[in-house]
Amino acid sequence: MKTILNITPFANWLKGAERPLIIAGPCSAESETQMMTTAKSIAAIDKRIIFRAGIWKPRTRPNSFEGNGSVALTWMKSVKEETGLLTSTEVANGKHVEECLKNKIDILWIGARTTVNPFSVQEIADALKGVDIPVFVKNPVTPDLQLWLGALERINQAGITKIAAIHRGFHSHSVTPFRNDPKWEMPIELRTICPDLPIICDPSHICGNTELIPYISQKALDMDMNGLMIETHCMPSIALSDAKQQLTPLQLSDLINRLVIRKSNSDNIEFKTKLEQLRESINKSDEELLNILMHRMHTAEKIGAYKKENNVVILQANRWESLLNERINSAAMMGLSENFVRSLYILIHEESIRKQNAIMNS
Ligand code: PEP
Ligand code: MN
Repeated sequence: MKTILNITPFANWLKGAERPLIIAGPCSAESETQMMTTAKSIAAIDKRIIFRAGIWKPRTRPNSFEGNGSVALTWMKSVKEETGLLTSTEVANGKHVEECLKNKIDILWIGARTTVNPFSVQEIADALKGVDIPVFVKNPVTPDLQLWLGALERINQAGITKIAAIHRGFHSHSVTPFRNDPKWEMPIELRTICPDLPIICDPSHICGNTELIPYISQKALDMDMNGLMIETHCMPSIALSDAKQQLTPLQLSDLINRLVIRKSNSDNIEFKTKLEQLRESINKSDEELLNILMHRMHTAEKIGAYKKENNVVILQANRWESLLNERINSAAMMGLSENFVRSLYILIHEESIRKQNAIMNS
């Protein structure tokens, strides 16, 4: 299905939109003092940072801190009045939207657990009809691009054009150093489908700890993302939610100062010529790669025919296991990563089996 989003670019509604947008603030609004102390330190770093804090917290298990609810909206108001920062929070239903609008929250976002549910997203969209407020949509917990797109479309169809996506990583069964697997291919696909849609990375929820946040933040900017949402707390060690992943304002300031901001592109003629040559070389390699894959598949078909003639089953588990190990070892000597080569060979082997199956059944 085609996706056409009607997007008002950041530049038309955000001051200083040319730099990466920074959203920072605590995971949860815990008390007026915590909010004000954190917000004042953030404002001292840069007045253009957008303040964030969760008013209603979606927690996996009951009886943990679920946010302070409506009372925290008055703290948000004080933050805005005293620091001049724009404020933002998560909404999960129509009632949250109404309360935020009443209390003049500047930007709303839809959380990962809500994006998965089209009923909830539609309820939020209905509550937003006729309102002009920016809404950001976090990726769903599961790596499903259609759900992410669907939520953006529902909000857009309600008339909200100041939209952006937030990449906060995905639940994964594989072992990774991250709380939520970044799966960069997902935001890349989103950017390919909707080139004008701003994408903000949330390294805090991707990493789940503070150590990896600088690495993911820089990587996001190098992937041409438009901004970062970084959980920041005046005293992370006593935070009531996500304590391990929140930065202090000082750490935030340090992170921002170290970020390398690169251009989206360059008009330098020398750069363009060299890049063109390198791309030509990639094109040639790809042509060779496809040729080799074609020959490999033809051979697989011959093997399928030969097995059929001799009434032998397709899958030879021992051969597959030793082939995969040998390829991984050779690849390691060539400096290719085990994960990459393993995934590649699993795809090649699946296709080869599919081809042999087709021959067996012909
Ligand atoms: C949050 O931003 O605090 C939050 C709950 O995030 P997510 O929806 O990405 O889990
Ligand atoms: Mn959080």
